[in-house]
Amino acid sequence: MRRVDLLICHANQLITCAAPQGAKRGRAMAEVGMIPDGAVAVDDGLVVAVGASEEVCAAYTARRRVDAYGHAVCPGLVDAHTHVVYAGDRIEEFEQRLRGASYLEILESGGGILNTVRATRAAPMEELIAAARARLDLMLALGTTTAEVKTGYALDVAGELKMLAALAALAEDGGDNAHPVELVPTFLGAHAVSPEYRGRPDAYLDSVIEQMLPAATAWYRDSPFARRKVPLFCDVFCERGAFDIWQSERVLRAAQALGMPVKIHADEFSALGGATLAVELGAVSADHLDVTPPEEISRLAASSTVGVLLPAVNFHLGSAHFAPARAMLDAGMAIALATDLNPGSAPCPSLPLVMAIACRYQKLLPAEALNACTINAAHALGLGGRIGSIEVGKQADLLILKQPDYRHLAYQLGINPVASVIKRGRPVI
Ligand SMILES: [Zn+2]
Repeated sequence: MRRVDLLICHANQLITCAAPQGAKRGRAMAEVGMIPDGAVAVDDGLVVAVGASEEVCAAYTARRRVDAYGHAVCPGLVDAHTHVVYAGDRIEEFEQRLRGASYLEILESGGGILNTVRATRAAPMEELIAAARARLDLMLALGTTTAEVKTGYALDVAGELKMLAALAALAEDGGDNAHPVELVPTFLGAHAVSPEYRGRPDAYLDSVIEQMLPAATAWYRDSPFARRKVPLFCDVFCERGAFDIWQSERVLRAAQALGMPVKIHADEFSALGGATLAVELGAVSADHLDVTPPEEISRLAASSTVGVLLPAVNFHLGSAHFAPARAMLDAGMAIALATDLNPGSAPCPSLPLVMAIACRYQKLLPAEALNACTINAAHALGLGGRIGSIEVGKQADLLILKQPDYRHLAYQLGINPVASVIKRGRPVI
């Protein structure tokens, strides 16, 4: 009998979300790869066996054995789009919007993202790290084991590098600051036009392309992310009031010329062609897609770009309109769900809440919502070969849920459905 580090036996449902062929599409989204009375064996941080308890638990002994009778076990959740590093909050704007101001009106009057830019520039590094750590703690407790995190709240070279350094401190292996949530960094210098360049977006983009991007890639080469082969993405906010389609293409092509994979904030409020640009550039994901026209949904469906939907934003902004997830699935698009955790449009650390919203307002089934927060979210980060499902050889990022049925993840509202969290084979909650 082989001895391993960890053996979880007799899960009422062992949910694998297995997808050996890449991101799930169409009918495969309704399949979660359920093994009743399932077990998983873990050694050296990796899954070494998964199957019926009868077989797996007979073939292995373990230094640590967990009997999960009455619980569902599923992959750790992957949050493919967040802005976890920032200072301050936007409570005043929350009230302004409740009184009738729109998100874009607040942005155009110098509030919105620029409020957070002021606070983030002024915050010392230790404060940024502490604030991000507190948010990551909440995310971890709610089942997130990997999170993409964007810069874009400093909008100058020193500040953007400070945000990246905060992420590196939180990711450093074995360091005092290391956080169990695995981080994936994205450079988002083109999040908004910086206050110094107000009304001169092209001049600001010159500084992004000529100064910030080279500085970010130089920083990346010596970062813990490069050592772990986790990419540094480049993203742009393609939106009225931020960057138009030509400006977005310019910054993303400059990033690609430096070897960076790209993502795009597209079609959140206005359809500017961002989804088509994502396909043309071979972007790993196109995010938001609330108002994407049907012909661009078809283009995404025919591509490898994953559509990352962020329904907590629509919910927080009090909108009745949500990205047409069902039509996207019917068209054959690969979709993922993420929180977009940020102080302005989604102060939400909870992927279970995102699943709950997606089921109610976008008519996803709980199975589709779970695949969208695990295997497809991993593919939206280019990490589908390593995380996002419980398969032999993959990283052992696992959740033991409080309930016997995984559908409670999306069914119950306002609770934490997660009993314990295992990251790289190690219990962390
Ligand atoms: Zn975002």
